[in-house]
Amino acid sequence: MIPLIDLTKQYGGIQKEIIEAIQDVLTGGQYILGPKVKELEEKISERLGVRHAIAVGNGTDALVLTLDAYGIGSGDEVITTPFTFFATAEAISKVGATPVFVDIDPDTFHMDPSKLADKLSTRTKAILPVHIFGQPASMDTILAFAAEHDLLVIEDACQAFGATFMETEVGSIGDAACFSFFPTKNLGTIGDGGLITTSDDRLAESLRKLRVHGSQEKYFHQQIGYNSRLDEIHAAILLICLREIDTWNEQRISIANYYFAKLNHVKHIELPVVMSNRSHVFHLFCIKSSRRKEIISALKQADIQTGIYYPQCLHLQEVYRELGYDDGDFPVAEMAASQLFAIPMHPFLSREDQDRVIDVIQKVSERL
Ligand SMILES: *Cc1c(COP(=O)(O)O)cnc(C)c1O
Repeated sequence: MIPLIDLTKQYGGIQKEIIEAIQDVLTGGQYILGPKVKELEEKISERLGVRHAIAVGNGTDALVLTLDAYGIGSGDEVITTPFTFFATAEAISKVGATPVFVDIDPDTFHMDPSKLADKLSTRTKAILPVHIFGQPASMDTILAFAAEHDLLVIEDACQAFGATFMETEVGSIGDAACFSFFPTKNLGTIGDGGLITTSDDRLAESLRKLRVHGSQEKYFHQQIGYNSRLDEIHAAILLICLREIDTWNEQRISIANYYFAKLNHVKHIELPVVMSNRSHVFHLFCIKSSRRKEIISALKQADIQTGIYYPQCLHLQEVYRELGYDDGDFPVAEMAASQLFAIPMHPFLSREDQDRVIDVIQKVSERL
């Protein structure tokens, strides 16, 4: 079987180092928010050129704690995309605010910044763009709009560690940014993890308190917080992965380029569009096709895994029925939900396996 993503290959190459790092943590005796977490925070903030990196339990918590630390809550609105993993909007709802969706761009699947003005209200506090599939959103237009209307910009960078917008890495563009280290993300650990980056000193201070029950000094609490911390074991593993991430991202890009070269003129499919002013790190390689069902089925018959990201837009989720959206409200996002599918993509996908994927897609598209 050719899997969509093969983590065993990724960790196989650094297994010995990972085991040694875990052993060091075991004998070190500090298991939560210890020296490895500190080192990881320092390395990432240095890399991104931001003043702070704050590690937390997972990417969803990174979003929740950031919104909470900014004081966003009941009565507030946050503009985001309906075409993302649920956690993006869930975090907004979790702090008591309302997600307000805007339709997406049909080429890149990012929130369409030209539609932001329609969604602005006196309650709007922030914009939450998602660097979907590993390509940065249109940050210049979003930042300009935010500056004009005095809004915060929080990047959901969970899928895009290392991607750049006009030479600047995601995570250092907005007021704050959230990362996930879930295993399948391009920078991931062997469990859950997350991190927030920001150059806002007050936000960072607040986040450092929020992640440990709203306390600065143990057993003295200034606010209601969370228990959301990165384990030392995961920080130790992530420090090893962080050393590899640029190589892994380059390997993803080179695999994507091979798909582009071979699938370019294939009928019935549209390949991802990479904008010229940014780099795409291909967390996922998603193809658009009105014949999705037939192509997925042919791939499945050839023992090749695919995935649908995402089969249902957020405005149409059962839990958001109360928000009052309807079928047809965001036609581009709905088209993406019905036509996109991901084909195998990970840094260690062999040329041979990739050729098999390509061959099946070429042949099925000829028959359609
Ligand atoms: C994975 C992901 C999250 C949530 O991260 P977790 O670590 O799984 O909590 C949030 N937003 C996006 C876009 C994601 O892909």
